[in-house]
Amino acid sequence: MDAELQALWTTATAHGVRIVEDPSPPDHARFIGLFEGHTITLFPNAAPPFGRWFTIAHLYGHMVQMSAPTARVRRSNELVFRLGETLDADDVQLIYDHEREAAELGRRLIAQAHPVSRDLDLRYSRFFHADFHYLVNVIETKESGPPVFDRYYKREPIPRDPILPDARPLLNLKTTTPSTERIVVV
Ligand SMILES: [Zn+2]
Repeated sequence: MDAELQALWTTATAHGVRIVEDPSPPDHARFIGLFEGHTITLFPNAAPPFGRWFTIAHLYGHMVQMSAPTARVRRSNELVFRLGETLDADDVQLIYDHEREAAELGRRLIAQAHPVSRDLDLRYSRFFHADFHYLVNVIETKESGPPVFDRYYKREPIPRDPILPDARPLLNLKTTTPSTERIVVV
């Protein structure tokens, strides 16, 4: 996994992402990484290489979304920040569509970075779905952290189908203006 992490890191950097590592334990609700503008902060003490690899891809996806925020992007960010409220079915769907698009954009970056085995592809998809279910729970209950995520991950089956790469050309973030939105979590 270290080789894939390194390759993805290099490819993300070439596409305008700045990645820094914070050795301290994260104090945010989410535990692997966060981003601000075009900078990703990873917490290596809190996540193994696979988690960091996933997070670089996923946050690149969110950065691309923020570069041209649609109504759905704005609404999704609003919902993610409004913790402790029950979501209705439309909101859950909107968050899913938003997160899924980020995962597809991230998968496109991965495709550019290195070859992906079927096993790794399905792990990417499994982690995404566990993360999505965890996120909905965080929004509704404010309950978060590694033990909670582990509970979701344990219950997430290996899916039959991988997440396909987004079909659009990769966006180089150097050509876009960083969002002024302070922090958006994974
Ligand atoms: Zn996300």
